[in-house]
This record gives sequence, structure tokens and C-alpha cells, in this order.
Amino acid sequence: MTPPAIVILGASALALARRVQACYPGSQVHGLAERVDADVRYTELGTHLRELYARGTPIVALCAAGIVIRCIAPLLLSKGVEPPVLALAEDGSAVVPLLGGLAGVNAMAREIAAMLAVSPAITTSGELRFGTCVLNPPPGYALADLAQGKRFVSDLLAGESTRIEGDAPWLDDASLPRASSARLAIRVTPFAGVGEPDDLLIHPRSVVAAIDAASDLSEATVIAEHVVDALDAHKLVRSSLALLLAPLDRIGDAALAHAARTLDVPLRFAEPATGESAHASDENHHRLFAAALPVPHDVLHRPGSSIALAVAAAPLDPTRIGQARGRLTVIGIGPGCAELMVPAARDALAEATDILGYATYVKMAGPFRDDQQVHRSDNREELQRARHAFELASAGRSAVVVSSGDPGVFAMAAAVLEALEASSDPRWATVELNIVPGVSAAMATAAQAGAPLGHDFCMLSLSDNLKPWSIIEARLRHAAEADLVMAFYNPISHARPWQLDRALDIVRAYRAPATRVVLGRDIGRPGGALTTTTLGQLRASDVDMRTMVIVGSSTTRGFARDGEREWVYTPRWYG
Ligand code: SAH
Repeated sequence: MTPPAIVILGASALALARRVQACYPGSQVHGLAERVDADVRYTELGTHLRELYARGTPIVALCAAGIVIRCIAPLLLSKGVEPPVLALAEDGSAVVPLLGGLAGVNAMAREIAAMLAVSPAITTSGELRFGTCVLNPPPGYALADLAQGKRFVSDLLAGESTRIEGDAPWLDDASLPRASSARLAIRVTPFAGVGEPDDLLIHPRSVVAAIDAASDLSEATVIAEHVVDALDAHKLVRSSLALLLAPLDRIGDAALAHAARTLDVPLRFAEPATGESAHASDENHHRLFAAALPVPHDVLHRPGSSIALAVAAAPLDPTRIGQARGRLTVIGIGPGCAELMVPAARDALAEATDILGYATYVKMAGPFRDDQQVHRSDNREELQRARHAFELASAGRSAVVVSSGDPGVFAMAAAVLEALEASSDPRWATVELNIVPGVSAAMATAAQAGAPLGHDFCMLSLSDNLKPWSIIEARLRHAAEADLVMAFYNPISHARPWQLDRALDIVRAYRAPATRVVLGRDIGRPGGALTTTTLGQLRASDVDMRTMVIVGSSTTRGFARDGEREWVYTPRWYG
């Protein structure tokens, strides 16, 4: 489980927050910046709680339940993640689970209440009666049908008892009304079509589908269909599939990766156990299972099929079977706030085993789980960071390299590709490399100002760290002459104090002093500010290295209605 964010409003709650923190390794205390110095500082409670909630981070808020409800309410109507959310009285006298019934909120309420020696305010009837949420089986098990599950719990609450058919170790300590002759049953099985319609069906993820080394299946959809056919043929349910297993020599195979994604299961690889060279597909499968599966299992295989299934007695942990194909994903976190990080980047972070990046950006991308390794580095060590990421991914890990904004705009994606092109390591070539786009600073700034990039524009970095200043000057002249709107990245820094003035001199030779200029500083981050000015008024001292400078073209204009804010835009046409 993702460690919770323990959210406090002031210093008086800090001591209690630290006690809760001690129960959850990897958790952090989030404090209102102006009032308390916590692990993570936020400036506005509502925005911060919504960001956490949208990211699926469990929340323990040390404040009134009503405040938490009002803050999160706007997000509740849209379907999506529902992490546990609890309100905790600042004096530790009450623990109120609010949301996330199926994500374990009541279990958290019990844990925190036990630590504080109070009773949790649990209101879920089934939970109260049975001491556990029967509809929330532990990882490795899937509830077959939530609606049916709710009916089942109602039946139990109405006085029925239940048998347990199969292995449900997590229910050992539950106070369920059990009777061996009960009409109802909790049935734990990977097989379909067993039991009665009123049973509570829970499927263990205990099945491995393996593809034969000699298989000629090469299309993702066909592979996925064959797996589903094999499950159907043996009357195994879809959700019992724990993973797809393939011989190690297919580690770079894109179709297999795609098939596993379609099936929504992990893909693992193993070197088939050595034995007499066998051509029979049956034999190949047995050797693959023998190499990869550390527990007793039955092999189910239909003659002529490229897919064989192994069924174990208990759920399987895919991370302990064979090895994964390593993954390297380069993401952009956007300008800095959670809403502007694309969901694909968030997914990559959730799946990462290792997160690499410049410390400031890594912090913005967090918080991370205890099982995730964070490798922070200095802003300048880009190639070294890229190589480190490939090394981790070559060993089967899932590395995410974090950039701000878009990773392809003056950021890590190009460094990663440069490292890959220069490498002759064959293991690097098998790494699954993905680049996930992000909202670049120019886009984020432009959107706040209106639409200054509404017509042709260019993006320029004014940093002469990696290119000669003469090239920058030539580009500025051409861009100014071409009447392009210009977005300046890296406009100025302590080490590059004079360059911006020189750049503005060049632009001023082509553009009127009244030309619109937009400055975005720390856009999307706490304390972010947008300013609009003109080329004539702009001074280098208005700009720092956290600023995006957008210089308009001859047609860029601004207007304000009745004292309202000003909008700046560049029309799509030339008059
Ligand atoms: N990959 C990033 C850019 C990295 S270069 C992107 O696509 O946005 C770093 C420069 O980007 C900074 O010097 C600044 O000019 C700009 N920048 C990055 N984040 C910003 C933000 N939140 N607000 C304003 N400018 C930002």
C-alpha cells in the first residue's frame, strides 16, 4: 500500500502526526507552510488534499471531518481512485474513516485507534459484525462480483451463516457466523462455474500462462486470445491469471509485452530448465514452468496449443517468478502540480521500482513507497543519470527518469537516447524504453496568460552551457526576423548573468517596444506568478532561472474587460 500522507494544519498537531507516522513506514507529515515545518509543505489545504486524493494517496487528516469532506467533495462524483481517507481528532480522541471502504480504510482506522487506545468510528455494518471487510480480500485475490458480494454480506447480516470452501487464510481470525452445513459459502477458487449463485466467489491469482519457445504466435491480439481461450477451455476465470511467462530469448518481443498489457498481467521471463532437447511442446512448457515456478503446480495443456497453464494451490507473487523485462520510462511531471501531470506519467511512477532525477523534480513527483528506490542527483549529471537508469533496467527493474515539464524539451529524454545510441551493451537494447510527454513550461505559462502561442512560435533555450552563444544569437535574429513568438527557457542564471540582456537587445532590433511579453514564474507551483509586460519595459532583473519568458510577435495582443484580468493572445491569422 502507498504510505499515507499525514496532513496537519498547525504545530499543535505535529506530535500526534509523528506518532501516526511511526505506524506507516515511508509516510510523510504534510504541514501548512506558514504555520509548521513538516516533511512536505503545502500552501492551501483544499488544493493539497485534492491533489493527494487524485493521486490515490491515502490521507490521514488531523482536523475536523467536515473540513476534509468539503475539500474532497468536488472529486467524489467522478469515478476513479478512492484511496483511504480518515479524519483524526487533533487530541487523538477520535478516528473517523471517511472514504475508501474497499481500499482498507477501516483496517487503517483500527490500526491508528489501537495505537491511540481509542475505538475507531467504524460505521460499515459488515465490518462491525465480522471484524473484517469480507469484500476486500488481500492482494493476490480478486472478488468476482461486488454487487453479488454486497448481497452476500446482507444475507449474513440478516442472520445466515456461511461455510468456507477453499483456502481463505485471511478469514481465520474473522468473527464470521460459520457453519459447515450453511447454505451460503465463501468459495475461493480459480475455476468458473462452481458453487451456487448466492456464494461469495473469490478468485486467487494462482494461474500462470506460458508461451511455448517454439510458438509461432507473433501478434499481440492473437497471443492474448490464445491465453483467454486456454483459460476458458480449462474453465479458469480471467482474474485468476497471475502472469504471462515466456522464454528468456523473447525478452525484447513487443507483441508479448503488448499481449500482457492487454491481459493486464505482468510478463516474466525464464530460461527453460535444461534437459534432453525436446521438440514436444508439452515438454517445453514443463521445462519453462520447472525453471520459473518455485511451488508445486498442475500443468494444463491442450495438444497443439502454444499456451499451457500452470495452476498453483495459492496466489502467486509474480515478482518471484522468473525475471521482468526491464523498463525505462522518461516522464515529464509538468510544471509542478499534480493536475498537470499526465495520467501515463503517474502510472509510470506507480509502477516504478526506481526513480531517478534532479532532487527538486523527484521531490515534486513524490511521495514514494518504501519499496521504491529514489536516486537523486545533481542537475548537471544528466548522461550519468541516463546510464544509471539503463543499468537498473537491464537488470529487470522498472526505472523512471523524471524531468520537469516535458521530458523532450531541454530535458532528460534526449540525454537518455544519447546514452543508448552510444552504448554497445546488448542488454540495454532489450530494455523497454518509453517516453511520456508532459506539459511544458511554455504551454503552462501560455495557458495562464491566454493564448500567446496561438500562431507560429519557437522554443529557445538561452543557456550557452551546451551550445555556443553565437548560435543562440543567430537563432534569435532569425526568429525575430521571421516574426515568430518566442518562448525562452533557461533565460538567466547566476552563472549566465548578461546573456538575457544581450538576447533582448537583438529582439528589440526587430520588434517594437510595445510588443507583448508574458513572464511565468514557478507556474503550477506554490507561489507561482504570471506577469504581462512589454518588450520596452522588460528588464533582466524581472526574470530568474525559474521564469518562462514569452515574447510576442507583431500581432500578439492583450485586452481586459471592465477591470477584469488581462488576456494575451496571438490571433491565428495575419491582418
Ligand atoms: N523540460 C522543461 C524545461 C526544462 S529547462 C519543460 O518542458 O518545461 C528549465 C527552464 O524551464 C527554466 O529555466 C524555466 O525557464 C522553465 N521552467 C520550467 N518549469 C517552469 C515553471 N514551473 N514555471 C516557469 N518556468 C519554468
